[in-house]
Amino acid sequence: MRYGLPEEIKFCKKCVMPNTRPSSSNEYKHTVAREHDFIKFDGEGVCSACRFCEAKDQNINWEERERELLQLLDKYRSSDGSYDILVPGSGGKDSVFASHILKYKYGMHPLTVTWSSHLYTDIGWKNFQNWIHKGGFDNYLFTPNGKIHRLITKNAFINLLHPFQPFILGQKTFAVKMAARFNIPLIFYGENPGEYGANISINQKKFAPNSEGYRLDFVDKNLNPEEIFLGGKSVADYLKEGITLGDLGSYLPLDTDVINKKNIDVHYLGYYIKWVPQECYYYAVKHTGFEANPVRTEGTYSKYNSIDDKTDGYFYYTTYIKFGYGRATQDAAQEIRNHHITRDEGVALVRRFDGEFPKRYFQEFLEYLDLPEKEFTEIVDSFRDPHLWKQENGEWKLKHNVN
Ligand SMILES: [Zn+2]
Repeated sequence: MRYGLPEEIKFCKKCVMPNTRPSSSNEYKHTVAREHDFIKFDGEGVCSACRFCEAKDQNINWEERERELLQLLDKYRSSDGSYDILVPGSGGKDSVFASHILKYKYGMHPLTVTWSSHLYTDIGWKNFQNWIHKGGFDNYLFTPNGKIHRLITKNAFINLLHPFQPFILGQKTFAVKMAARFNIPLIFYGENPGEYGANISINQKKFAPNSEGYRLDFVDKNLNPEEIFLGGKSVADYLKEGITLGDLGSYLPLDTDVINKKNIDVHYLGYYIKWVPQECYYYAVKHTGFEANPVRTEGTYSKYNSIDDKTDGYFYYTTYIKFGYGRATQDAAQEIRNHHITRDEGVALVRRFDGEFPKRYFQEFLEYLDLPEKEFTEIVDSFRDPHLWKQENGEWKLKHNVN
């Protein structure tokens, strides 16, 4: 079986998530052969993300947590208005909420930084601009070298069926690099990845090295080009083709010594205040004029999650191929956990929308990767594991479905 998929496929009894959802990973070791860690289910058949969200309702003293936040922020708040906190984001609902509340409720002086989308949607670009202009923030938008970004994205698609890997690596290391450059000692992310089933406890306030692919433990001077992979291809192989370390620098981690010397702390706001994605949406609408998509997002029923990038749909679609669950499953699971819909409603939504092919930007995506459609399809099909997929009358069908 590919990716170390679980032998027995199960679906969470509370939400709709299968036990094939990857949890944490080290993207730099990502080759085709790599095995994943998957979301944990407990003895009652309930996933760790559901347990995480239950704890938000039951076990957490949120007033106490807010006091902890105030203490932390008091320690870092600048008295002369200089940047004291860095908030990475795209101008989506979560980064709008985090940056806005930190600035206007807690009196911090954030610098916001953005790792560019591959191909902005109109609505994504508009929301990004509104974040800065209506929300009132300083922002650095970084757009990586387009030739290199497309090349690694193409490799990641061909080798790993993971076209978002270079984006993820770049985005995750970018925030720390910017904090180091501007001598900002504190980084705040919004959501705690435990919400979605990463192996992170509700009592973990900081990003820890080795968790969530957020690798702080690679040291540049020890960088072994044979052992670090981008898009499933070693850095050594890129170098052989005339691509330089400088070209790849945006995707490689910052030297750990620099991070330690600068004492950069990385926290989740979701540890300190109760995080409800739908409320972030309403908050963003109110404070920066955030707009949901005028049309339904393909592959799901929601209109406000992950809508900035024309290539987003292919990230969710490739996940569906490799792990047997799609974008509707992710959205429904999250909304069930936060009590917006029932499990039955979630199951119906998954049946209706999961795995729908994202047609709207398909030609642009193929052009972006410089890949003919036939080759796209062949690559996709080669990543279907027989443990998850069967063919019926010439059509691919999942063997395991929720309920
Ligand atoms: Zn669950």
